[in-house]
Amino acid sequence: MRLPSRSTTSDSWAHLAHLEDEARALEPGPNERAGWTEAVVAHAERFLAELDDAPTFVSTPQPDPSLEVNALPFTEEGTALQAVLDVLRRADRPGINPASGGHLGYIPGGGLFPSALADFLADIENRYSGIAYAGPSATRIENRLIRWMCDLVGYSGEAWGDLTSGGSIANLSAVVAAREAAALRGADLERAVIYRTTQTHHCVEKALRIAGLGQAPRRSVPLDQRWRMDVRALTRMIHEDRARGLRPFLVVASAGTTDTGAIDPLADLATLAEREALWLHVDAAYGGFFLLVDGLRERFAGLERADSIVLDPHKGLFLPYGSGALVVRQGRTLREAFAYEAAYMRDAEEAEAEPSPAQYSPELTRPFRGLRMWLPLQVFGLAPFRAALAEKLALARYFHDRVQEIPGIEVAGPPALSVCCFRHAPEGGDADEATRRLTRALHADGRVFFSSTIIDGDVWLRCAVLSFRTHRRHLDLGLEMIRRSIASS
Ligand SMILES: *Cc1c(COP(=O)(O)O)cnc(C)c1O
Repeated sequence: MRLPSRSTTSDSWAHLAHLEDEARALEPGPNERAGWTEAVVAHAERFLAELDDAPTFVSTPQPDPSLEVNALPFTEEGTALQAVLDVLRRADRPGINPASGGHLGYIPGGGLFPSALADFLADIENRYSGIAYAGPSATRIENRLIRWMCDLVGYSGEAWGDLTSGGSIANLSAVVAAREAAALRGADLERAVIYRTTQTHHCVEKALRIAGLGQAPRRSVPLDQRWRMDVRALTRMIHEDRARGLRPFLVVASAGTTDTGAIDPLADLATLAEREALWLHVDAAYGGFFLLVDGLRERFAGLERADSIVLDPHKGLFLPYGSGALVVRQGRTLREAFAYEAAYMRDAEEAEAEPSPAQYSPELTRPFRGLRMWLPLQVFGLAPFRAALAEKLALARYFHDRVQEIPGIEVAGPPALSVCCFRHAPEGGDADEATRRLTRALHADGRVFFSSTIIDGDVWLRCAVLSFRTHRRHLDLGLEMIRRSIASS
């Protein structure tokens, strides 16, 4: 646009009216909003209606339809919403469809409908959730969720936490809290030993590096028969490190590893960590919400003695991507790691009635991300969550029992949670090669998606059941695909 030149005679600010006029496009009126909302809802409803029959995985065809987004440059005049939605629909075909109940790879996410409505409301109102003074009800909602998760893991009233964008960031905050609680300074880093296993999620390694602990010695604790951290080996390693003059500092355990769902022996680890004065962090990003299932708590015994725990609501609570959480047994250690005082925030600090998320997190301004978790918990109640999680556990057992009936298929032990590892080990054949071939065949089919991994040097396929949309029929379809692939190989 051209800026009108200022008139020197009458009103030298007349150009403001022109700018206001042109900028008004950013505030569509009620009719335009209704039209747009209708178009977006229709788009979403069509997606949901087609979901059941859509493939879960589409390997990228040539030409790649996602290249269509490149055909939409940012123009001065903009493009009609419907035309943009049409491009989105056409471009959004290849890859994994995480919304599908057939997603049994990696750790499936969710996408509860009320969360989408909550995001809509949170974005419209744009409440400031970082500081209690600015958004008392928004922070209260987030704080109730944090308290609920502290209670869920069995923490006392001293615990506190933070809602994050995901598990990786939550693990990063945990590592920073551990580092600060140990008061590690530059000279200490090369002696501060960290213990984890080869099954620890790779985001922990990333977190250590980001947190400035890249030079700290890291030990891979051996695994036991069930791919869990071997506590006796850990004990030995700690003693050896102390004898060398090093300073054992942090143990990173998992409550539900990504590869196999294994839960490390948390009670024994807690006892060891207490005796040796180490920070015990438990990554329960995948497994944590199984605490909601009746009778499962004992598998997590000792979790409440961990110093910090990560949970991923965008996994086990079926939320859309963008929701992780950290809870810390001594909440003040989290505050000590992240609190700040800024001159321009004085009003906020003087009026603090509720803990402010910004004092427990690297973030200041952030989306009001609590609403997408709070609203589904409010409108659904807890019962359907408990049932869905119990269903996932049972489905993994069902798959484990059925898949080994297929000739040539070998399973790892019964699933610790809702991940079942299996491989194709044909008699007289190379199991790794056969499992790779099976993986390729399953991906080429794509109606149901499995992912593969390497554990202890062996190739395994994984059936990871966690989507709220996954039911028995998806596993039956997956089993049929496996049976057929093997029969024709
Ligand atoms: C998914 C996962 C993570 C990483 O969380 P993001 O939400 O993907 O960042 C960390 N640890 C475990 C055990 C996980 O399953």
